[in-house]
Amino acid sequence: MATLRLDIVTPDRVVLGADVDYVGAAGVDGQFGVLPDHSPLLSALKIGDLYYRQGGEVKWAFVSGGFAEVSENKVTVLAEAAELAADIDVDRAEQAKARAEKRLKAPEPDTDTARAELALTRAIARLRVAAHR
Ligand code: ATP
Repeated sequence: MATLRLDIVTPDRVVLGADVDYVGAAGVDGQFGVLPDHSPLLSALKIGDLYYRQGGEVKWAFVSGGFAEVSENKVTVLAEAAELAADIDVDRAEQAKARAEKRLKAPEPDTDTARAELALTRAIARLRVAAHR
């Protein structure tokens, strides 16, 4: 069977470039999985987790503001932000979560509620992904 290449790239850095056996991600239209020889696909990704299987091991990454393109046994994820589970700063995510919760619980006139909700979603997803390491 052909191999699958997974590249996760943000404006700042290459987060991952690896040969993998499987990729699972949350598209805006639903969860999808990619095995070698998958048909071409382009999907916006939900804020959250992506996982991949590599030699029997399952590994996780956080992705926000991302798109995935599947073509010719390559999965390319372009995202505004992404981190491998091991690189997530848990204290920072806890602090971001607390900040967002505080803003949502006691909004000030200039509070951007939608922005706080997105920050909360990112923080919760980072904590969920960080738990997989
Ligand atoms: P914060 O309020 O802590 O900045 P955020 O959700 O607003 O969180 P993002 O805008 O998603 O942060 O990301 C900005 C940059 O900081 C990205 O490069 C991202 O990878 C990095 N980053 C954010 N939070 C974390 C974290 N908890 N651990 C590691 N890197 C992080």
